[in-house]
Amino acid sequence: MAFENIISKIEESERILITSHINPDGDAVGAGLGLFLALNKHNEKNKKADEDYMEKVVRFVLQDSIPRNLRFLSGSEMVERDEYVQTKYDFDLIICVDAANKERIGSSLRHFDRSKFVINIDHHTSNTMYGDIDHVEDISSTSEIIYALINDMGIEIDMEIGEALYTGLVNDTGNFAHSNVTPATLAMAGALLERGVDNSKIIREFFQNKNLPSLKIMGMALSEMVYVPEKKLTYFYLSKDALDSVGALKEDTEGIVNLINSYNESEVSLFLIGMENGNVKGSMRSKHDADVNKIASLFGGGGHVKAAGFTAEGLSVKEIVDKVLNKL
Ligand code: 5GP
Ligand code: MN
Repeated sequence: MAFENIISKIEESERILITSHINPDGDAVGAGLGLFLALNKHNEKNKKADEDYMEKVVRFVLQDSIPRNLRFLSGSEMVERDEYVQTKYDFDLIICVDAANKERIGSSLRHFDRSKFVINIDHHTSNTMYGDIDHVEDISSTSEIIYALINDMGIEIDMEIGEALYTGLVNDTGNFAHSNVTPATLAMAGALLERGVDNSKIIREFFQNKNLPSLKIMGMALSEMVYVPEKKLTYFYLSKDALDSVGALKEDTEGIVNLINSYNESEVSLFLIGMENGNVKGSMRSKHDADVNKIASLFGGGGHVKAAGFTAEGLSVKEIVDKVLNKL
């Protein structure tokens, strides 16, 4: 898919806001940061070359803070929390990355009303095409799309941009373990290593960097998970109280849904977590044929065939589990 329309829109825009989804993961932050750093670099270079060049203001704004294990990325300190953002101006362009629908954008969605144009760049099959331009490709990660866009813009990928995009790849491929890894994904990874990206540093900072509450939750998950042999489903429910009891945050539960599905008998996993307002957030993974995007959509969620999520409102854990079992 070509990027001409996106590139010309970027070139003609002076004030650009980049945003992504709530509870940002490595791909949301990696793709957004990669693009943010690249556009700033592009701006600096053009300003030097041509004093009449229209200087761009680029901001990367998210509803939620950057998870602890992504703060090693340079530039992550420049990402703004939406609640502290006061804009005196409207944006010419919003580029939203890795968000399948408007609800996923959370509070940053408020800027959409005051912006002239929206570009939606994403890789979720469930994307609702909410942009003025929608660039949605069913590939490993949004970071893989941003990598191609940056290359097409002729911006040199330096180590900082490379680290951000590499983290996105690693996040969404589960460390190159999922079926969304293609030759192009690995070619991109190889090219980034050539740019100086340190694979083992990123894996160490991003994956091998769990705090104690997070490991305690893993322990709970492994000892309390329930396996339903008829449907080959493994599920685990974590209440808000249990989360608080070990001093964990929601971001410390990242990876639980994959962990419980690593059971050799399990084909589908469901991780449920109670939220403050009484709703339940669900995360699902599928090893084989089950389409968890479809199941998540029963609750108004979505994602990919093999990895999806939802927020269930007004349903008990038993009702959610029954609904999922019914669909399998
Ligand atoms: P995770 O389980 O890692 O939170 O998310 C798995 C996939 O499902 C990701 O691609 C994520 O963007 C998507 N996803 C997670 N929660 C939701 C949700 O509430 N709604 C939608 N539409 N997608 C979700
Ligand atoms: Mn993604």
